[in-house]
Amino acid sequence: MRAITPLMNDARSALVLFSGGQDSTTCLAWALERFAHVETVAFDYRQRHRIELDQRLVVLDEVRRAFPQWAGKLGQDHFIDMGVLGQISETSLTRDVAFAMEKDGLPNSFVPGRNLLFFTFAAAVAWRREIRNLVGGMCETDYSGYPDCRDNTVKALQVALNLGMDRSFVLHTPLMWLDKAETWSLAKELGGEALVELILEHTHTCYDAVRGPRNDWGYGCGTCPACSLRKRGFEAYREGRPSLTAERR
Ligand code: ZN
Repeated sequence: MRAITPLMNDARSALVLFSGGQDSTTCLAWALERFAHVETVAFDYRQRHRIELDQRLVVLDEVRRAFPQWAGKLGQDHFIDMGVLGQISETSLTRDVAFAMEKDGLPNSFVPGRNLLFFTFAAAVAWRREIRNLVGGMCETDYSGYPDCRDNTVKALQVALNLGMDRSFVLHTPLMWLDKAETWSLAKELGGEALVELILEHTHTCYDAVRGPRNDWGYGCGTCPACSLRKRGFEAYREGRPSLTAERR
């Protein structure tokens, strides 16, 4: 059996799929609490809310400034041009068309293959960087119904990546079983009010790329599916109740 080098066996470093939104910023904080060294990766797939790619750099700077205990752990940021995904995807995230539900029950914002490709490319970066842990903000509790956010999808992908790359990656999804209100609570737990404020002020979630005036829950149009989830979750968090009813959980 092939000997595992000490570095490959080192669980102390992680690579976070970091888009600059609420969920991935919470995942970044989660990783910075757990691991000694954390790197970040982003994907340009010609998303119409490309503003998130600029905003994520602001979030990284703010994390370094506001959390000195995390700043020293935050390593390289990787940026991957995945324009080909935008070219082959006819979706409302990659084309200028209105958000709607499709006949199959999926929203037309679903980009087929997106999270599968993101994790696969992130694993290729992690392979080169000798990082074992991958962290993503996928969630199947209070979400848009994307099948590549499901726990089984991520677990199957972990197996495929480990077989296909001959590594022992661990794919972490700390938000998988949290609703949006609980994701805000997790941010508070990890970084206190300072992290909640950083997320409100600097992260970008809106699919329509609207910044505009600040709302209680941050910036955005307030009506696209991403804003609706964020807004509903923040209101529930502030009121100390779950954002999902018991029947829907
Ligand atoms: Zn919006």
